[in-house]
Amino acid sequence: MGTPTWLITHTHLDHIAALPVYVARRRMMRMEPPTLYLPAEAVEDVRRLLLIMQRLDRGRMICQLNGIKAGDEIELSRELIITPFATTHTIPSLGYVVWDRRLKLKEEYHGLPARRYAICGWAAPRSRARCARRWSPTPVILALRDWTTSPRCMTPKS
Ligand SMILES: [Zn+2]
Repeated sequence: MGTPTWLITHTHLDHIAALPVYVARRRMMRMEPPTLYLPAEAVEDVRRLLLIMQRLDRGRMICQLNGIKAGDEIELSRELIITPFATTHTIPSLGYVVWDRRLKLKEEYHGLPARRYAICGWAAPRSRARCARRWSPTPVILALRDWTTSPRCMTPKS
C-alpha cells in the first residue's frame, strides 16, 4: 500500500486482480495517486477496468497509467532508471531492469591519490574536465513477467 509506483509486467489476473482495490484504498487513505507502468497495449483496457470499478463502487479510481514499450527509459528518480524489455508470453508483456545510477571514479583515476583529482557530486561540476567521476548505471533488479522456474518464462525476447 505504501509503494506509490508499480511496474506491471502483464495483465494476467494474478498480476492485476487487486489493482482496483489498491488504487481505491490509496485514495481512501488520502495517499498520493499511484503511478503505474504497464505494456502500452494494455493501458486502455486497464483504464476501462478501473472505470467500471469506479462506476460499481462509486469511488474515484485516480492513478497515473503509463503505457510503455521495450526500449523506453523511465527515470523514476535521480538515482533510479527503469528499462523495459520484451518478453514472450501469451499476452503483451514486458520485463524490467531497474538501474541504480551511481557516480563512479573514472578508470584513468584508479590508483591515483585523491588529492590528484576533483570529485564532483550530484550537482553539475564547475568544469567537466576536472570531474573524476562519471555516471555509471548499475543493474539492481531484474523483473520478468512471472516468477517461475520454467525456462520458457525466464527468457527475454531478443
Ligand atoms: Zn502470466
